[in-house]
Amino acid sequence: KYNEIVNTLKIAKDIILNCVKDGQVVVDCTVGNGNDTILLAKLVGKTGIVYGFDIQKTALEITKENLACENIDNDVRLIHDGHENIDLYIKEKVDFIIYNLGYLPKGNKSIKTNKDTTLKSLQKAITILNDSGIILITCYIGHEGGLEEKEEVEEFLKTLNQKQFNVIKYDFINQINHPPILYGVEKSKTRRE
Ligand code: SAM
Repeated sequence: KYNEIVNTLKIAKDIILNCVKDGQVVVDCTVGNGNDTILLAKLVGKTGIVYGFDIQKTALEITKENLACENIDNDVRLIHDGHENIDLYIKEKVDFIIYNLGYLPKGNKSIKTNKDTTLKSLQKAITILNDSGIILITCYIGHEGGLEEKEEVEEFLKTLNQKQFNVIKYDFINQINHPPILYGVEKSKTRRE
């Protein structure tokens, strides 16, 4: 048996595996190399839809190739635009949205998410979430601008009405070297004002 709470990536993956179901409409707001996009595509199956955003065309091309390599021909819509424009492309309610902020680990480190566009995107993402829908956000604080971005995310999430949203923060408080922080948002199903 392996450890259950080793890092935020595993916790995020466990939540994805638990929550994302066949036929759902889901969004990867930071496609990168497509690890999350591919997992989401497998989980929603042929009847679901995956929207994926990235500002790097090469990231989307690599993801497209990786999907093909795995023979996944599900409905994956890769969009070469910033997630701050999510509302221009998604006109329906969605069940799951994931953000893996920062830069691509082996890519160009100057191409990274930033607090203003991340906040803009989150504000829009919240409005398109289905009842019981979930948003996961992984924040990295070791690079320039990362801490400010994480603070912006956290301040925004703190403002969400607890009757409408459950919000959780996973923070490995005894790890050195700025471990990533994971936030989870769930839109309540029953309790509404
Ligand atoms: N989850 C990805 C994977 O499996 O490889 C890694 C994502 S990486 C940490 C962050 C990605 O966000 C980069 O590919 C970067 O190009 C992208 N990005 C930066 N700003 C963005 C924006 N405004 N909208 C969408 N993607 C953005």
